[in-house]
Amino acid sequence: MTGGGAGVDALPSEELACWICGSRRLVLRKPANYGGRLDSHAFAITDSNYGVTAAVYQCRGCGFLQCAELEDVTHFYEDLEDEGYEAGRTERRLQLRKILQRVQRYRGHGRLLDIGAASGILVGEARQMGYEAEGVEPSRWLQQRAVERRLPVHHGTFPHPGSGGVYDVITLIDVIEHVTAPLSLLRAIRRALAPQGVLVVVTPDVRSVPARVLGWRWWHFRVAHVGYFDRSTIELAARRSGLAPVAFHRPGWFFSGDYLWDRAWKLVGMAGPRAPAVLKRVTLPLNPRDSLLAILKPAGQME
Ligand SMILES: [Zn+2]
Repeated sequence: MTGGGAGVDALPSEELACWICGSRRLVLRKPANYGGRLDSHAFAITDSNYGVTAAVYQCRGCGFLQCAELEDVTHFYEDLEDEGYEAGRTERRLQLRKILQRVQRYRGHGRLLDIGAASGILVGEARQMGYEAEGVEPSRWLQQRAVERRLPVHHGTFPHPGSGGVYDVITLIDVIEHVTAPLSLLRAIRRALAPQGVLVVVTPDVRSVPARVLGWRWWHFRVAHVGYFDRSTIELAARRSGLAPVAFHRPGWFFSGDYLWDRAWKLVGMAGPRAPAVLKRVTLPLNPRDSLLAILKPAGQME
C-alpha cells in the first residue's frame, strides 16, 4: 500500500452547498473523526475503519448526507493499491455476474462502459456475456491488474478520451458514494448514453434497516464514502441529470467465510481469534439489503 501525501482540500462552511439540490441549508450531523491527514490508504476499497469519516452534513432541502467540506478526492485513487480487493476476486466476480444478469433484462447487448472498473472483473464478465465492454479506472495499480488480464480498462476518470461514442450500458457500481460532484458525473453519463441505453447505479442505502440499526457504526460509514444516498436522493439526482428511474433492486454480496469472520469481530469492536481454516474454503451469499441497484434511462432535459 502506498500513501499519497496530498492533503485534503476543504471548503469554508459559508460556501457549502448541497451536491444534489444546491441548497445552502446544511446541518452538521457528524464531526470528522479521522486522525491526521487523509491519504490514499484511507481510500482503500477494503478499508474496514467503520464509522470513521470526514465531517458529514445533511441537507435540509433534500435530506442528502454528504461530506460537504471536501472538494475533489479523485487524486487519492491515483496511488491506491489494494491487495485485499484482488484477493476477493472470486467473490466479486459472483456478485458482479449477478448484477449483469439483472442488467441483461433491460439491455442485453451492445457497448458497455464500467466506470470505476478496478481490476476489470465486471468488464471480463460482461465480455463473456457478449457485451462489447470496456472500463475506466483512476487507480494505476488496479488498472494495471486489468491490463495484465488483457482487459480493456483505461487509466483515468470519466469522461475519458479513450472511451468515446455512445454506450448501451454504463455501470457505476459502488462508485457514486465516492464522488464529491455526483451531478456532474451523472450528466456526463447522460450525454454518453444511447437513447435506449441504461445506466446501472449500485450504492449503499443510508435509509436501509442495517444503516438505521447500526447508526454511525454502519459499515458504509467510512472515509472513502463521501455521499450517502437513499432511493429519494438517487431519484432526485437522476431527475436533475436528465435520467429517469426504471427499477430499483436490492443486490447481494458474496464473501469468503474467513472474511465474514474477521469483519464480524471488527463490528463488535473486538480482536477475535483466527478464523477456522475451513472458513477459507467457503463462499457465502449475503444480502443485508442495505444496497440499492437503480436502473436509469435517459429522459427529458437536464435541470
Ligand atoms: Zn439537498
